[in-house]
Amino acid sequence: MSSVKVICTECPMGCEIEVLVNGDEISVEGYGCKRGREYAEAEVVCPRRVVTSTVRSSTGRMVPVKTERPVKRSEIFAVMEKINAAGCSLPVRIGDVIVRCVSEDINVIATANVD
Ligand code: SF4
Repeated sequence: MSSVKVICTECPMGCEIEVLVNGDEISVEGYGCKRGREYAEAEVVCPRRVVTSTVRSSTGRMVPVKTERPVKRSEIFAVMEKINAAGCSLPVRIGDVIVRCVSEDINVIATANVD
């Protein structure tokens, strides 16, 4: 059996959660709520992160972007390569899709209006 300690980042409480792994069985202790339990389990089984970056527009202005949902941590470098290879035309509005399906069905969207 192995034990992994995870600090939950889902809210300011920052609960210290322990995930116990015994083969295929996982148990979670120390969480303050269901959201934290799911976060801690995911951190051990398949950690994910939102990726933030910028995309160069056709005028040279940089457009701030992020993945619309967290992507698997193991895929972050591949996602960054797709974002770095992308371009876009202006104007861009918050929420516009800048790069489609960089991982699974997750798009990269603009996080600011750029004219
Ligand atoms: S477990 Fe719940 S209460 Fe604790 S930090 Fe995470 S979200 Fe907040």
